[in-house]
Amino acid sequence: PDIEYGNLIQKLNTAQREAVSTTEGFVRVIAGAGSGKTRALSCRFAFLVNELGILPGNILCVTFTNKAANEMRQRIHNLTGDNDTGYVNTFHGFCVSVLQEDSFAVQYPKSFLVLDNADVDAMLQIIYEERGLTLRNMTFSMARDRIEILKLFKRPDYYRDMIALPLEALKEKYDNAVTVEDIIFYGYLYQEKKCFGLDYNDLIKFTLYIFKEREEIRLKWQQRLEYIMIDEFQDIDYLQYELMEVLCAWHKNLFVVGDPDQTIYTWRGADGSYLLDFDKKFPGTKTVMMMENYRSTPQILAAANSLIAKNTKRIPKELLPMLPDGGPVVCHFADRQDAEAKWISEEIKRLHEAGMPYSEITLLYRAHYVTRAIEQVFLQEKIPYTIYSGVQFYDRMEIKDALCYLRMIVYKDDLSFRRIVNAPKRNMGKRRMEFLQDYAEQHSCTLYQALQATWEDPVFKGTKAGQFVALVERFAGGQAGRPVSEVLADILNESGYEKMLRTEGSQERLDNLAELKQSVYEYETTCGEECTLEHYLSHVALFTNTDSLDSKGKVKLMTVHAAKGLEFPCVFLCGMNEGIFPSRKVRTLEAMEEERRLAFVAATRAENRLYLTRAESRNFDGSPQYPSRFILDIDRQLIQFTKEPREGLIKEAEDYIELSRKYLPDSESDIVFPVGQRIRHAVFGAGTVTDVDRDRGAHVIQFDSMDTPRRISFRVKMERI
Ligand code: ATP
Ligand code: MG
Repeated sequence: PDIEYGNLIQKLNTAQREAVSTTEGFVRVIAGAGSGKTRALSCRFAFLVNELGILPGNILCVTFTNKAANEMRQRIHNLTGDNDTGYVNTFHGFCVSVLQEDSFAVQYPKSFLVLDNADVDAMLQIIYEERGLTLRNMTFSMARDRIEILKLFKRPDYYRDMIALPLEALKEKYDNAVTVEDIIFYGYLYQEKKCFGLDYNDLIKFTLYIFKEREEIRLKWQQRLEYIMIDEFQDIDYLQYELMEVLCAWHKNLFVVGDPDQTIYTWRGADGSYLLDFDKKFPGTKTVMMMENYRSTPQILAAANSLIAKNTKRIPKELLPMLPDGGPVVCHFADRQDAEAKWISEEIKRLHEAGMPYSEITLLYRAHYVTRAIEQVFLQEKIPYTIYSGVQFYDRMEIKDALCYLRMIVYKDDLSFRRIVNAPKRNMGKRRMEFLQDYAEQHSCTLYQALQATWEDPVFKGTKAGQFVALVERFAGGQAGRPVSEVLADILNESGYEKMLRTEGSQERLDNLAELKQSVYEYETTCGEECTLEHYLSHVALFTNTDSLDSKGKVKLMTVHAAKGLEFPCVFLCGMNEGIFPSRKVRTLEAMEEERRLAFVAATRAENRLYLTRAESRNFDGSPQYPSRFILDIDRQLIQFTKEPREGLIKEAEDYIELSRKYLPDSESDIVFPVGQRIRHAVFGAGTVTDVDRDRGAHVIQFDSMDTPRRISFRVKMERI
């Protein structure tokens, strides 16, 4: 019923209709949570295609999550009956499409590898072994963050090295590196180039580079994308912004939607002012506001409005509820963490018995560790649930292995080879791998090529090396033109991988593989462009867990960040304590306002019911954790407590918050100094900032009076000199 445009536009209000039908030029929608921005965006796509006759392949629609992209593709598919759904994707996904067509411009093969976290870790493993580093030097997740920060902020020109330098020159940089940071960074660049791998940052950098260097390619894409639309524009970062500017420069049809109150990624480089200053940047911009909220009950909306109103740096805007009255926002203060979890589970059981399906209930929290107590109780009480993120679907061993089998067919890269050559066991142990490694190094070839050349060698006697090579060759030769889902099913079978799992009795892993096959099949039917194995592989690395949100019959657990743009009938926002939410990492007033926007995002996900819960608890240093200021921000008459908080608690919390607010500096630039800044410390005297360690919240400072540098916490005020 939804597929006719006529029906679609019926379901829009005046402002939405205006947004949909103003197709030419620069258009900006600024509107609050749940006001129908995303609905207007997908309707506009339909309008362009169905009413104006624009070809989907000439439209770029950027969504924030793959899930939103999938939904939109599905809708376009229903609408046009066509498999050509245009470029509906995240920024990263779109860059993959560009590079698949034009990566020759940076001398990369069409079949470059998109790297995910597990790939990066596998590379780090090699580097650590080669250079004798241990996790004490740096954990993998810290190393990944470090690499990202270097690529984004400190060495933004790194990609020129990757593109221009031959492999040997990168290797030399790696060999000559001395500091841990340099070893990891250059080791990683070298490993990346060696397998023609690109991580998320590279995707955008490489695309921008190609557009800058190759006018004819830039023009081709500019001319192709007649209409560009971008969702969640308040969280766009400067690289994405640059990309967007380039792409829209030809047709000058750009439609963006966003809500300044939902900017929650400034810590990763997002900048809300792109939305606010859009009209200055693009004169003649038409701005559309939407004031009605169709998602939440008046009670939930009033609470959310009252919360976000406490932010000082914001343009005031109130949302008008369209839904009929619901129940009050309920707040529960428990005595202990396990009691909080217990109360939630009791309440969920009650709701369930009253007819609410588990799948309509979602738990949101600031940080993953909050779920530990809850999971325990859910297991005891047999409440079915799934966690989004944590161990992600695509990070699971069997999923990664299966994808590496597919990659082996196409890329034959070392990463995939290492992972699957001995899974199932083919007797390819450490000694034989070392043999291959030596051979590969001497002949500058890949491990797989080494095996191809030597499998008849006596070292491989008693192994299944020959069968492995035959398997890969057979698939590599015969996969073209076959559906990916078929290739996947066959190789899992013929490689003996599924048999291995069956022998081990790993039913859960087999179920996950079945789910993977299903998802490949679904991807094939909606992917838009022609779905070759290469195409699938380069996009799958971008998928994340929230993309497969069909948790039938289960309660969902996820962080607030992951819930952005989504909506759920019933939301429990748990762990609402000072030090958890707001996080104790918040160091400035600016960051506190972002944290409050995050709480606003959380509250506005709820449609009919919203619960806020917390427990009495202590910080690591033994000090008490008070109820979150975000609960206190909400007008008291908008909250119903399950039982009155203990005598004096609210007053104590208010005093604590007032005190901590006094000591918060306005912004990072007041406390965090750039590298090279001369400073004076009250005791150590003058010195120079040599590095900023954001993970630990400290400057690294070389004091004039000392031989070696010291880490000094941001908490200690120092003056610039
Ligand atoms: P967010 O800021 O959280 O991303 P949004 O502005 O994108 O929110 P949507 O997700 O598009 O909001 O819409 C919120 C809900 O309201 C959805 O369930 C949508 O189907 C519904 N909705 C949107 N517009 C209308 C309308 N004109 N009439 C009835 N329901 C609507
Ligand atoms: Mg939206």
